[in-house]
Amino acid sequence: MRMRKKKNTDKRLGVCSEYILPEAPITSDKNTVLEIGCGKGSFICELAKRQPDTFFVAMEKVPDVAMLAAEAAMREGLENVRFIIADAKNLGIYFPETKVSRIYLNFSDPWTRSGYYKRRLTYRAFLEIYKSILTPDGAIFFKTDNRDLFDFSLNEFCFSGFDTRCVTYDLHNSEYAADNIMTEYEKNFSSKGFPIHRVEAYLTPASFIKFEKAASCRIDSIMPLFDSARLYMAEHNIPQWQDGYPQRELIENDVENGNGYVLLHKGRVVGYSTLFFGNDLTYSYIENGKWRNDRPYVTMHRVAVADDCKGMGLMGKFVSSFADMAKAQGIFDLRGDTHEINRSMRRAFEKNGFEYCGVIYLENGEPRVAYHKIIEH
Ligand code: SAH
Repeated sequence: MRMRKKKNTDKRLGVCSEYILPEAPITSDKNTVLEIGCGKGSFICELAKRQPDTFFVAMEKVPDVAMLAAEAAMREGLENVRFIIADAKNLGIYFPETKVSRIYLNFSDPWTRSGYYKRRLTYRAFLEIYKSILTPDGAIFFKTDNRDLFDFSLNEFCFSGFDTRCVTYDLHNSEYAADNIMTEYEKNFSSKGFPIHRVEAYLTPASFIKFEKAASCRIDSIMPLFDSARLYMAEHNIPQWQDGYPQRELIENDVENGNGYVLLHKGRVVGYSTLFFGNDLTYSYIENGKWRNDRPYVTMHRVAVADDCKGMGLMGKFVSSFADMAKAQGIFDLRGDTHEINRSMRRAFEKNGFEYCGVIYLENGEPRVAYHKIIEH
Protein backbone atom coordinates (compact mmCIF):
# COMPACT_ATOMS: atom_id res chain seq x y z
CA MET A 1 0.00 0.00 0.00
CA ARG A 2 1.54 3.29 -1.08
CA MET A 3 1.02 6.23 1.23
CA ARG A 4 2.75 9.41 2.32
CA LYS A 5 5.13 8.93 5.23
CA LYS A 6 3.26 9.62 8.46
CA LYS A 7 4.57 12.01 11.06
CA ASN A 8 5.23 10.74 14.58
CA THR A 9 5.01 7.07 13.59
CA ASP A 10 7.10 5.95 16.56
CA LYS A 11 5.05 8.00 19.02
CA ARG A 12 1.76 6.80 17.59
CA LEU A 13 2.94 3.18 17.54
CA GLY A 14 3.89 3.65 21.19
CA VAL A 15 0.33 4.64 22.03
CA CYS A 16 -1.11 1.45 20.54
CA SER A 17 1.87 -0.74 21.49
CA GLU A 18 -0.30 -3.32 23.24
CA TYR A 19 -1.80 -4.10 19.81
CA ILE A 20 1.62 -4.78 18.25
CA LEU A 21 3.19 -8.16 18.94
CA PRO A 22 6.95 -8.42 19.54
CA GLU A 23 9.23 -10.40 17.23
CA ALA A 24 8.79 -13.65 19.17
CA PRO A 25 6.73 -16.87 19.16
CA ILE A 26 3.01 -16.24 19.57
CA THR A 27 1.17 -18.34 22.12
CA SER A 28 -2.58 -18.70 22.00
CA ASP A 29 -4.88 -21.47 23.16
CA LYS A 30 -7.71 -20.16 21.01
CA ASN A 31 -8.46 -20.88 17.37
CA THR A 32 -5.99 -18.56 15.65
CA VAL A 33 -6.45 -16.91 12.26
CA LEU A 34 -3.92 -14.86 10.29
CA GLU A 35 -4.20 -12.14 7.67
CA ILE A 36 -1.12 -11.28 5.63
CA GLY A 37 -0.88 -7.79 4.15
CA CYS A 38 -3.77 -6.39 6.18
CA GLY A 39 -3.42 -2.80 4.98
CA LYS A 40 -5.40 -0.40 7.16
CA GLY A 41 -7.08 -3.31 8.92
CA SER A 42 -10.79 -2.79 8.28
CA PHE A 43 -11.25 -6.43 7.17
CA ILE A 44 -9.58 -8.01 10.20
CA CYS A 45 -11.35 -5.66 12.63
CA GLU A 46 -14.76 -6.53 11.18
CA LEU A 47 -13.94 -10.27 11.26
CA ALA A 48 -12.74 -9.97 14.87
CA LYS A 49 -16.05 -8.35 15.82
CA ARG A 50 -18.03 -11.15 14.17
CA GLN A 51 -15.96 -13.94 15.77
CA PRO A 52 -15.15 -12.88 19.35
CA ASP A 53 -13.86 -16.35 20.34
CA THR A 54 -11.17 -16.47 17.67
CA PHE A 55 -7.75 -14.83 18.02
CA PHE A 56 -6.78 -12.79 14.95
CA VAL A 57 -3.24 -11.88 14.00
CA ALA A 58 -2.75 -9.44 11.12
CA MET A 59 0.61 -8.95 9.46
CA GLU A 60 1.64 -5.84 7.58
CA LYS A 61 5.16 -5.00 6.51
CA VAL A 62 4.79 -1.22 6.19
CA PRO A 63 4.93 0.30 9.71
CA ASP A 64 2.89 3.40 8.83
CA VAL A 65 0.10 1.22 7.45
CA ALA A 66 0.21 -1.27 10.33
CA MET A 67 -0.01 1.69 12.70
CA LEU A 68 -3.32 2.80 11.13
CA ALA A 69 -4.65 -0.76 11.48
CA ALA A 70 -3.59 -1.01 15.14
CA GLU A 71 -5.10 2.39 15.88
CA ALA A 72 -8.39 1.23 14.30
CA ALA A 73 -8.46 -1.92 16.46
CA MET A 74 -7.71 0.13 19.56
CA ARG A 75 -10.45 2.65 18.76
CA GLU A 76 -12.89 -0.23 18.54
CA GLY A 77 -11.56 -1.75 21.77
CA LEU A 78 -11.02 -5.14 20.11
CA GLU A 79 -9.37 -7.61 22.47
CA ASN A 80 -9.00 -10.48 20.03
CA VAL A 81 -6.86 -8.90 17.30
CA ARG A 82 -3.16 -8.11 17.31
CA PHE A 83 -0.69 -6.96 14.65
CA ILE A 84 2.76 -7.98 13.48
CA ILE A 85 4.90 -5.45 11.63
CA ALA A 86 7.00 -7.79 9.50
CA ASP A 87 7.46 -9.42 6.14
CA ALA A 88 5.60 -12.67 5.37
CA LYS A 89 8.90 -14.43 4.74
CA ASN A 90 9.55 -14.20 8.52
CA LEU A 91 6.30 -15.88 9.59
CA GLY A 92 8.21 -18.85 11.03
CA ILE A 93 9.52 -16.66 13.86
CA TYR A 94 5.98 -16.04 15.11
CA PHE A 95 4.36 -19.44 14.66
CA PRO A 96 6.75 -22.17 15.75
CA GLU A 97 4.18 -23.38 18.33
CA THR A 98 0.76 -21.90 17.77
CA LYS A 99 -0.66 -22.88 14.38
CA VAL A 100 -3.27 -20.97 12.38
CA SER A 101 -6.43 -22.53 11.01
CA ARG A 102 -6.84 -19.97 8.26
CA ILE A 103 -4.75 -17.47 6.35
CA TYR A 104 -6.41 -14.57 4.55
CA LEU A 105 -4.64 -12.99 1.61
CA ASN A 106 -6.65 -10.02 0.37
CA PHE A 107 -5.56 -8.09 -2.69
CA SER A 108 -1.93 -9.05 -2.35
CA ASP A 109 0.49 -7.06 -4.49
CA PRO A 110 0.30 -8.50 -8.04
CA TRP A 111 3.98 -7.97 -8.98
CA THR A 112 3.10 -7.71 -12.66
CA ARG A 113 6.59 -6.92 -14.02
CA SER A 114 8.09 -9.96 -15.63
CA GLY A 115 10.57 -11.82 -13.46
CA TYR A 116 9.03 -10.62 -10.21
CA TYR A 117 6.53 -13.47 -9.72
CA LYS A 118 8.62 -14.99 -6.93
CA ARG A 119 7.60 -12.07 -4.74
CA ARG A 120 3.91 -12.89 -5.04
CA LEU A 121 2.50 -14.02 -1.70
CA THR A 122 0.97 -17.05 -3.45
CA TYR A 123 4.28 -18.14 -5.01
CA ARG A 124 5.16 -21.75 -4.11
CA ALA A 125 7.99 -20.73 -1.74
CA PHE A 126 5.51 -18.70 0.34
CA LEU A 127 3.01 -21.58 0.22
CA GLU A 128 5.69 -23.79 1.81
CA ILE A 129 6.01 -21.28 4.67
CA TYR A 130 2.21 -21.24 5.10
CA LYS A 131 2.15 -25.06 5.20
CA SER A 132 4.51 -24.97 8.15
CA ILE A 133 2.23 -22.70 10.19
CA LEU A 134 -1.22 -24.04 9.23
CA THR A 135 -3.14 -26.64 11.24
CA PRO A 136 -3.50 -29.96 9.34
CA ASP A 137 -6.97 -29.00 8.09
CA GLY A 138 -6.06 -25.34 7.62
CA ALA A 139 -6.85 -23.26 4.55
CA ILE A 140 -5.84 -20.12 2.69
CA PHE A 141 -8.64 -17.79 1.59
CA PHE A 142 -7.45 -15.60 -1.25
CA LYS A 143 -9.16 -12.80 -3.15
CA THR A 144 -7.97 -10.37 -5.77
CA ASP A 145 -9.20 -8.33 -8.73
CA ASN A 146 -6.12 -9.30 -10.76
CA ARG A 147 -6.96 -12.16 -13.12
CA ASP A 148 -3.37 -12.92 -14.00
CA LEU A 149 -2.37 -13.15 -10.33
CA PHE A 150 -5.48 -15.26 -9.64
CA ASP A 151 -4.77 -17.82 -12.36
CA PHE A 152 -1.11 -17.92 -11.33
CA SER A 153 -2.21 -18.55 -7.73
CA LEU A 154 -4.61 -21.38 -8.66
CA ASN A 155 -1.69 -23.05 -10.39
CA GLU A 156 0.64 -22.52 -7.43
CA PHE A 157 -1.94 -23.90 -4.98
CA CYS A 158 -2.35 -26.94 -7.19
CA PHE A 159 1.40 -27.42 -7.59
CA SER A 160 1.86 -27.26 -3.82
CA GLY A 161 -0.83 -29.88 -3.20
CA PHE A 162 -3.57 -27.62 -1.87
CA ASP A 163 -7.13 -28.59 -2.69
CA THR A 164 -8.80 -25.55 -4.28
CA ARG A 165 -12.51 -25.13 -3.56
CA CYS A 166 -15.28 -22.54 -3.95
CA VAL A 167 -13.55 -20.81 -6.87
CA THR A 168 -15.43 -17.78 -8.17
CA TYR A 169 -14.42 -15.18 -10.73
CA ASP A 170 -17.17 -12.81 -9.64
CA LEU A 171 -17.42 -12.94 -5.87
CA HIS A 172 -19.97 -10.15 -5.52
CA ASN A 173 -22.43 -11.96 -7.78
CA SER A 174 -21.82 -15.40 -6.29
CA GLU A 175 -23.27 -17.49 -3.47
CA TYR A 176 -20.31 -16.38 -1.32
CA ALA A 177 -21.28 -12.70 -1.46
CA ALA A 178 -23.54 -12.77 1.60
CA ASP A 179 -20.75 -13.47 4.13
CA ASN A 180 -18.14 -11.42 2.35
CA ILE A 181 -16.36 -8.65 4.22
CA MET A 182 -15.11 -6.00 1.82
CA THR A 183 -11.55 -4.78 2.25
CA GLU A 184 -10.38 -1.26 1.45
CA TYR A 185 -8.92 -2.32 -1.91
CA GLU A 186 -12.01 -4.37 -2.69
CA LYS A 187 -14.32 -1.38 -2.24
CA ASN A 188 -12.10 0.65 -4.49
CA PHE A 189 -11.74 -1.93 -7.28
CA SER A 190 -15.36 -3.06 -7.30
CA SER A 191 -16.61 0.54 -7.37
CA LYS A 192 -14.61 0.83 -10.62
CA GLY A 193 -16.47 -2.20 -11.99
CA PHE A 194 -13.71 -4.83 -11.66
CA PRO A 195 -15.00 -8.32 -10.78
CA ILE A 196 -13.41 -9.89 -7.70
CA HIS A 197 -11.95 -13.42 -7.85
CA ARG A 198 -11.85 -15.68 -4.82
CA VAL A 199 -10.64 -19.18 -3.88
CA GLU A 200 -10.32 -21.34 -0.76
CA ALA A 201 -7.21 -23.55 -0.79
CA TYR A 202 -7.21 -26.38 1.77
CA LEU A 203 -4.32 -28.40 3.12
CA THR A 204 -4.66 -32.15 2.58
CA PRO A 205 -2.23 -34.96 3.40
CA ALA A 206 -1.08 -34.66 -0.23
CA SER A 207 0.08 -31.09 0.43
CA PHE A 208 3.11 -32.57 2.13
CA ILE A 209 4.18 -34.69 -0.83
CA LYS A 210 7.38 -33.61 -2.55
CA PHE A 211 8.51 -34.66 -6.02
CA GLU A 212 12.19 -35.09 -6.79
CA LYS A 213 14.67 -36.87 -9.01
CA ALA A 214 15.61 -40.15 -7.32
CA ALA A 215 19.12 -40.23 -5.90
CA SER A 216 20.89 -43.60 -5.63
CA CYS A 217 20.65 -43.46 -1.82
CA ARG A 218 16.86 -43.83 -2.27
CA ILE A 219 16.98 -47.22 -4.01
CA ASP A 220 16.72 -49.20 -0.76
CA SER A 221 13.49 -47.34 0.05
CA ILE A 222 12.15 -47.61 -3.50
CA MET A 223 12.40 -51.39 -3.88
CA PRO A 224 9.91 -52.24 -1.08
CA LEU A 225 7.26 -50.24 -2.99
CA PHE A 226 7.52 -52.81 -5.79
CA ASP A 227 7.42 -55.71 -3.32
CA SER A 228 4.10 -54.55 -1.91
CA ALA A 229 2.75 -53.67 -5.37
CA ARG A 230 3.60 -57.22 -6.48
CA LEU A 231 1.82 -58.62 -3.43
CA TYR A 232 -1.22 -56.46 -4.12
CA MET A 233 -1.30 -57.65 -7.73
CA ALA A 234 -1.03 -61.29 -6.66
CA GLU A 235 -3.88 -60.84 -4.18
CA HIS A 236 -6.03 -59.31 -6.93
CA ASN A 237 -5.07 -61.96 -9.48
CA ILE A 238 -3.36 -59.40 -11.68
CA PRO A 239 -0.66 -61.33 -13.58
CA GLN A 240 1.63 -58.31 -13.72
CA TRP A 241 5.18 -57.94 -12.29
CA GLN A 242 4.95 -61.48 -10.85
CA ASP A 243 8.31 -62.42 -12.43
CA GLY A 244 10.10 -59.96 -10.14
CA TYR A 245 9.86 -56.94 -12.42
CA PRO A 246 11.13 -54.28 -12.03
CA GLN A 247 14.43 -55.75 -10.91
CA ARG A 248 16.82 -53.75 -8.76
CA GLU A 249 19.32 -53.40 -11.65
CA LEU A 250 16.60 -51.79 -13.75
CA ILE A 251 15.86 -49.21 -11.07
CA GLU A 252 19.58 -48.64 -10.50
CA ASN A 253 19.84 -48.01 -14.21
CA ASP A 254 16.86 -45.60 -14.19
CA VAL A 255 18.38 -43.66 -11.33
CA GLU A 256 21.84 -43.58 -12.84
CA ASN A 257 20.43 -42.25 -16.12
CA GLY A 258 18.38 -39.62 -14.33
CA ASN A 259 15.05 -41.20 -15.33
CA GLY A 260 13.89 -42.25 -11.84
CA TYR A 261 11.63 -39.99 -9.76
CA VAL A 262 10.29 -40.28 -6.24
CA LEU A 263 7.53 -38.74 -4.15
CA LEU A 264 8.39 -38.04 -0.53
CA HIS A 265 5.90 -37.62 2.30
CA LYS A 266 7.65 -35.78 5.11
CA GLY A 267 10.91 -37.33 4.00
CA ARG A 268 9.65 -40.91 3.44
CA VAL A 269 9.67 -42.39 -0.08
CA VAL A 270 6.02 -43.10 -0.93
CA GLY A 271 6.04 -43.23 -4.71
CA TYR A 272 8.26 -44.10 -7.65
CA SER A 273 7.99 -43.65 -11.40
CA THR A 274 10.36 -43.68 -14.33
CA LEU A 275 10.02 -41.04 -17.02
CA PHE A 276 11.41 -41.62 -20.49
CA PHE A 277 11.83 -39.06 -23.20
CA GLY A 278 11.71 -40.38 -26.75
CA ASN A 279 9.83 -43.10 -28.57
CA ASP A 280 8.99 -46.35 -26.82
CA LEU A 281 9.56 -49.23 -29.25
CA THR A 282 6.63 -51.20 -27.84
CA TYR A 283 4.29 -48.28 -28.65
CA SER A 284 4.97 -48.31 -32.39
CA TYR A 285 2.29 -50.97 -32.93
CA ILE A 286 -1.17 -50.56 -31.37
CA GLU A 287 -4.26 -52.76 -31.77
CA ASN A 288 -7.98 -52.10 -31.28
CA GLY A 289 -7.51 -48.34 -31.43
CA LYS A 290 -4.95 -45.64 -32.04
CA TRP A 291 -2.85 -43.13 -30.18
CA ARG A 292 -4.43 -39.70 -29.85
CA ASN A 293 -1.75 -38.18 -32.09
CA ASP A 294 1.72 -38.87 -33.47
CA ARG A 295 3.52 -36.04 -31.75
CA PRO A 296 6.68 -36.65 -29.66
CA TYR A 297 5.79 -37.88 -26.16
CA VAL A 298 7.18 -38.85 -22.79
CA THR A 299 6.33 -42.17 -21.14
CA MET A 300 5.68 -43.14 -17.52
CA HIS A 301 6.76 -46.63 -16.49
CA ARG A 302 7.12 -48.67 -13.28
CA VAL A 303 4.72 -46.54 -11.20
CA ALA A 304 4.36 -47.74 -7.62
CA VAL A 305 2.94 -46.01 -4.55
CA ALA A 306 2.97 -46.96 -0.86
CA ASP A 307 -0.11 -48.89 0.30
CA ASP A 308 -0.98 -46.34 3.01
CA CYS A 309 -0.81 -43.47 0.51
CA LYS A 310 -3.28 -44.83 -2.04
CA GLY A 311 -6.06 -42.38 -2.82
CA MET A 312 -3.91 -39.39 -1.84
CA GLY A 313 -3.44 -38.26 -5.41
CA LEU A 314 0.17 -39.39 -5.83
CA MET A 315 -0.40 -40.33 -9.46
CA GLY A 316 -1.67 -36.78 -10.03
CA LYS A 317 1.50 -35.40 -8.50
CA PHE A 318 3.64 -37.51 -10.85
CA VAL A 319 1.51 -36.57 -13.85
CA SER A 320 1.59 -32.82 -13.17
CA SER A 321 5.32 -32.86 -12.44
CA PHE A 322 6.08 -34.87 -15.59
CA ALA A 323 3.79 -32.62 -17.62
CA ASP A 324 5.78 -29.58 -16.44
CA MET A 325 9.06 -31.30 -17.35
CA ALA A 326 7.76 -32.34 -20.76
CA LYS A 327 6.40 -28.88 -21.54
CA ALA A 328 9.75 -27.34 -20.67
CA GLN A 329 11.21 -29.49 -23.49
CA GLY A 330 8.45 -28.56 -25.95
CA ILE A 331 6.66 -31.92 -25.57
CA PHE A 332 2.93 -31.95 -24.94
CA ASP A 333 1.98 -35.63 -24.75
CA LEU A 334 2.29 -38.26 -22.04
CA ARG A 335 1.82 -42.03 -22.53
CA GLY A 336 1.68 -45.09 -20.32
CA ASP A 337 0.32 -48.63 -20.14
CA THR A 338 -0.85 -51.20 -17.64
CA HIS A 339 -2.40 -54.64 -17.41
CA GLU A 340 -5.99 -54.90 -18.61
CA ILE A 341 -7.28 -56.02 -15.22
CA ASN A 342 -5.17 -53.60 -13.14
CA ARG A 343 -8.25 -51.54 -12.26
CA SER A 344 -6.61 -49.19 -9.82
CA MET A 345 -3.92 -48.16 -12.33
CA ARG A 346 -6.52 -47.76 -15.10
CA ARG A 347 -8.61 -45.60 -12.79
CA ALA A 348 -5.54 -43.55 -11.88
CA PHE A 349 -4.83 -42.92 -15.59
CA GLU A 350 -8.41 -41.96 -16.29
CA LYS A 351 -8.69 -39.71 -13.24
CA ASN A 352 -5.63 -37.83 -14.42
CA GLY A 353 -6.82 -37.05 -17.93
CA PHE A 354 -5.46 -40.04 -19.86
CA GLU A 355 -7.59 -41.70 -22.53
CA TYR A 356 -7.63 -45.39 -23.32
CA CYS A 357 -6.17 -45.87 -26.82
CA GLY A 358 -5.93 -49.61 -27.49
CA VAL A 359 -3.65 -52.58 -26.85
CA ILE A 360 0.15 -52.65 -27.16
CA TYR A 361 2.52 -55.62 -26.76
CA LEU A 362 5.53 -55.74 -24.45
CA GLU A 363 8.84 -57.12 -25.74
CA ASN A 364 7.92 -60.51 -24.25
CA GLY A 365 4.65 -60.49 -26.20
CA GLU A 366 2.28 -59.80 -23.30
CA PRO A 367 -0.57 -57.38 -24.10
CA ARG A 368 -1.08 -54.15 -22.15
CA VAL A 369 -3.78 -51.47 -22.33
CA ALA A 370 -2.36 -48.17 -23.59
CA TYR A 371 -3.16 -44.67 -22.31
CA HIS A 372 -2.41 -41.23 -23.72
CA LYS A 373 -2.79 -37.79 -22.16
CA ILE A 374 -2.60 -34.62 -24.19
CA ILE A 375 -0.93 -32.09 -21.90
CA GLU A 376 -1.63 -29.18 -24.24
CA HIS A 377 -3.31 -29.07 -27.65
N1 SAH B 1 -5.51 -6.31 2.35
C1 SAH B 1 -5.66 -4.88 2.14
C2 SAH B 1 -4.42 -4.23 1.53
C3 SAH B 1 -4.04 -4.77 0.18
S1 SAH B 1 -2.56 -4.04 -0.47
C4 SAH B 1 -6.89 -4.62 1.32
O1 SAH B 1 -7.39 -5.54 0.67
O2 SAH B 1 -7.38 -3.50 1.29
C5 SAH B 1 -1.36 -5.27 -0.02
C6 SAH B 1 -0.79 -5.04 1.37
O3 SAH B 1 0.10 -6.09 1.66
C7 SAH B 1 0.04 -3.75 1.50
O4 SAH B 1 -0.37 -3.04 2.63
C8 SAH B 1 1.47 -4.25 1.61
O5 SAH B 1 2.27 -3.39 2.41
C9 SAH B 1 1.28 -5.59 2.25
N2 SAH B 1 2.34 -6.55 1.94
C10 SAH B 1 2.85 -6.79 0.70
N3 SAH B 1 3.81 -7.72 0.75
C11 SAH B 1 3.90 -8.10 2.06
C12 SAH B 1 4.73 -9.02 2.74
N4 SAH B 1 5.66 -9.74 2.07
N5 SAH B 1 4.58 -9.16 4.06
C13 SAH B 1 3.66 -8.42 4.72
N6 SAH B 1 2.85 -7.53 4.13
C14 SAH B 1 2.97 -7.36 2.81
